[in-house]
Amino acid sequence: MTVTRPPEVQRIPTKNAQLGGGLTIRRALPSRQRRLIGAWCFLDHAGPTDLGATGMRVGPHPHTGLQTFTWMIEGAVLHRDSLGYEQLIRPGQVNLMTAGQGISHAELSPEPRPPRLHLAQLWIALPATLRQMPPAFTHYPVLPQLQQEGFTATVLVGELLGRVSPVAVHSPLAGFDLTATAAATTQWPLRPDFEYGVLVLEGEAEVAGQHLPPGELLYLGLGHQELRVRCGHGGVRLLLIGGEPYTDEVLLWWNFVDGSSAAIAESIAEWNAGAERFGQLPGLETERLSAPLLPGPLKVGE
Ligand code: MN
Repeated sequence: MTVTRPPEVQRIPTKNAQLGGGLTIRRALPSRQRRLIGAWCFLDHAGPTDLGATGMRVGPHPHTGLQTFTWMIEGAVLHRDSLGYEQLIRPGQVNLMTAGQGISHAELSPEPRPPRLHLAQLWIALPATLRQMPPAFTHYPVLPQLQQEGFTATVLVGELLGRVSPVAVHSPLAGFDLTATAAATTQWPLRPDFEYGVLVLEGEAEVAGQHLPPGELLYLGLGHQELRVRCGHGGVRLLLIGGEPYTDEVLLWWNFVDGSSAAIAESIAEWNAGAERFGQLPGLETERLSAPLLPGPLKVGE
């Protein structure tokens, strides 16, 4: 007998974490309850907040096996990387850095320092076959938008109602910013072959029939056809991410994604020894971050 299960819905609390410069951020992925949504393997939400005296200061650090995806909502951040890119990102823009076999970068508040900061940074695990691809960086100054029943959707990744994001990813993924500035109700199409996550970035809303405050990630398993979103007069800004379930073996430690504990240990040792593979960021005063050592072999699923 076939048992038809209702599509899975899960509420996952975010955790607070510290970024360089003393910024407190909310981390929605990974969590004990859920490590991945599609190939999305990391989701930090910073702000909206007034920047303190030091601003954002994330010193040089490496990445492997992933793409970092930054969605800027308020303020500005200066990205510098070991390929030589120096890119200011402003509201409405995306920075996409492909780490592949190895890259290093720093993320700093520019001078003069903008008073406010609001952004989401996500990581995308590369398919196992592309983990060793050459590093790359792309800045996307404009993303497609569409309006529907009081909401403005920005198509960050993938396709929504015929609008396609130019952001180049390597697995079937979706990422949308859904914003309303007044009371609104609408529904967005979902792909039944995708799993999804919804995070409130500002305001609050009723999402898929549940009241969703900031600080909770709503997970929707496979099989959903649409997402109903309702907000009150205060409006809301939501991030909706999704993708085909990621099936390659994957480990995440610090800033490294890889397929084995030995490969992660090698990246740690090479970065801490200043190996050529991660390049250089000359002329930066911000302190270089050290990779924490593994407490023991990592197992898939941790
Ligand atoms: Mn980084």
